[in-house]
Amino acid sequence: MSGADDRLAALMDLLADLPPAAVLTGTSIGAGRSADMSTTPGVRPRVVFRPGSVDELSRILAVCHALHQPVVTQGGLTGLAGGASPAEGEVALSLERFRAIEPLDADTGSVLCGAGVALATLQATAANEGYRFPIDLGSRGTATVGGMVATNAGGIRAMRHGMMRDQILGLEVVLADGTVLSRLGTLAKDNSGFDLKHLFCGTEGTLGIVTRARLALQPQPRLNAVALIALPDLAAAQTLLQRLRQDLGAQLSAFEFIERRVYAAVAALGQVRTPLASGSDMGLIEIEGIDGHDVDAFQAALADAVKAGLVTDALIGTSAREQDDLWALRDGCSQMIFTLSDTWGFDIGVDAARLRPFLSQTEAQILTADPDARLWLFGHLGDGNIHFIVTTRHPSTVADIVYAAIRRFGGALSAEHGLGREKAAMLSLVRSDAEIATMRRLKAALDPHAILNPGRVLPAEAP
Ligand SMILES: Cc1cc2nc3c(=O)[nH]c(=O)nc-3n(C[C@H](O)[C@H](O)[C@H](O)COP(=O)(O)OP(=O)(O)OC[C@H]3O[C@@H](n4cnc5c(N)ncnc54)[C@H](O)[C@@H]3O)c2cc1C
Repeated sequence: MSGADDRLAALMDLLADLPPAAVLTGTSIGAGRSADMSTTPGVRPRVVFRPGSVDELSRILAVCHALHQPVVTQGGLTGLAGGASPAEGEVALSLERFRAIEPLDADTGSVLCGAGVALATLQATAANEGYRFPIDLGSRGTATVGGMVATNAGGIRAMRHGMMRDQILGLEVVLADGTVLSRLGTLAKDNSGFDLKHLFCGTEGTLGIVTRARLALQPQPRLNAVALIALPDLAAAQTLLQRLRQDLGAQLSAFEFIERRVYAAVAALGQVRTPLASGSDMGLIEIEGIDGHDVDAFQAALADAVKAGLVTDALIGTSAREQDDLWALRDGCSQMIFTLSDTWGFDIGVDAARLRPFLSQTEAQILTADPDARLWLFGHLGDGNIHFIVTTRHPSTVADIVYAAIRRFGGALSAEHGLGREKAAMLSLVRSDAEIATMRRLKAALDPHAILNPGRVLPAEAP
C-alpha cells in the first residue's frame, strides 16, 4: 500500500460515521465526476464526499486537514479551466446537496441560496417574484452558485451589472481546517473590518468552500429589447459600442460580438435560428428600458449607425420569444465550438484600444506557425472579453503565441473562466513576483497544508 492509500484508509476510518448519502465510493462514482468542460484531463476520484450540512462539511475538511488529504471541490462541472477536474490522489467534494433557496427577502430584494443551486433555478425563482438575477451564462442549466462565486463568473450582462462578486451581499464559507465563516446578512454597506467575502470570490476554491450566498436581485426590467446586427468589421462594432454607451447610457446591458466565421458555422450546424444572412460579423445588443420611448431611442441609434455605415442590417426582437430566439444564437456559438475536435479556448481580455492589433497580430502568427489552424472569435465585446478559440494540431505552439501576446499587450490571461489547473503555470506572465508572493501568503494562512484545490490558480512550488 502507498502512503496515499494509507491516508485514504485513515480518512475513511475517521469519517466512517457519516450518513451513506454523504459518501460515494467505487462504482457509485459516475464518469462525469472525472472532468469539467475544459480540455484538462482528470481522473475518476476514489471518493466523493457529498455533505448535506455545514457541520458535515466542516468535519470532513477538519479530518482532511489533519491528514493533509488533497481535496478538489466540484460544483456543476461546467468550468472551462480544469479547476474541478480531479488530479491523482485527490478526493472530490461536491456541494450538490446544498440546493435550498430561502424565500426572497422583500425588503432588500435579496435571496439566500445554497452553493449547489443551478443558475437557471435561481433565475426562475427571481423571475417568479418579479425580480431578475442579472448574470447569465450559456451553462445556466448546470453551473452552480458556488462555482460561480468561486470563478467570479461574468457572462453577457457583466458590462452593465458587473460580475458575480458584484451580486454578493454575504457568504458562508468553510475553511480548510473546518472553521465556518458565516456572514449572510442583508446589509448593503458594512465597512466594519475586513470584508472577507472577497477572498473567496474568484479564487477558484483555493481558500475556502462556499456553502451559501446571499445574492442581491435586480427589479425585473419593465422592458427589454434585443437586436441582431450585421457589421462590416470589428472596428465598426467598437465604434458602435462607444456611440451606444453615449446615446443609451446605463440602458445598454449587453454587447456581444460574433465573428463571421463563427456565425457561418453556427448557421451551417442548423441548431438555432440565424435570421440574418451569413457573410458579415454580427453583434447582439440588449437594452433594459422602461417604456416604448426607450425602444424608439434604441431604434433611432441603430438607424443612425446604419446611416454612418457601422451597421449593414438589423433585426430587433421586442417580444420575449423573439429575444429568447436571438439569445439562443449566442448560446449556439458555444454549442458549435463543443462539436469541434482539436480545439483550444483562450478566454482573453484586452483593452478596447489594443484589441484589434492583438487579434490581427496573434492570428497572423498562429497561421504562420500552423497554416491549417482555424480561428473562432466571439464573446463579450462590451467588456473587452473575447473567446479566442483555435482549432489546431499544434496546441502548445499556439498557446505560446497567445500567452506571449497577452503579456505584450498587457491583457488578461483569463477574463472570466479562471486559471484552474489549465493555466496556473502561466500566472507569472500576468502577475508580479510580489503579487504572487502575497497570494501564496494568503493561501498559507488559510490553508497551511495546501489541501484545497492544489495546483489550481497558483502553480505548484518547486520542492
Ligand atoms: C456553454 C458554456 C458557457 C459558459 N459561459 C460562461 C460565461 O459567459 N461566463 C463565465 O464566466 N463562465 C462561463 N462558462 C464557464 C462556467 O460555466 C463558469 O465558470 C461557472 O461559474 C462554473 O460553475 P460550476 O458550478 O460548473 O463550477 P465547477 O466547474 O464545478 O468549478 C469551477 C471552479 O470553482 C470551484 N468550486 C466549485 N464550487 C465551489 C464551491 N462551492 N466552493 C468553492 N469552490 C468551488 C471548483 O473547484 C473549480 O475550481 C461557460 C461554460 C459553458 C460550458
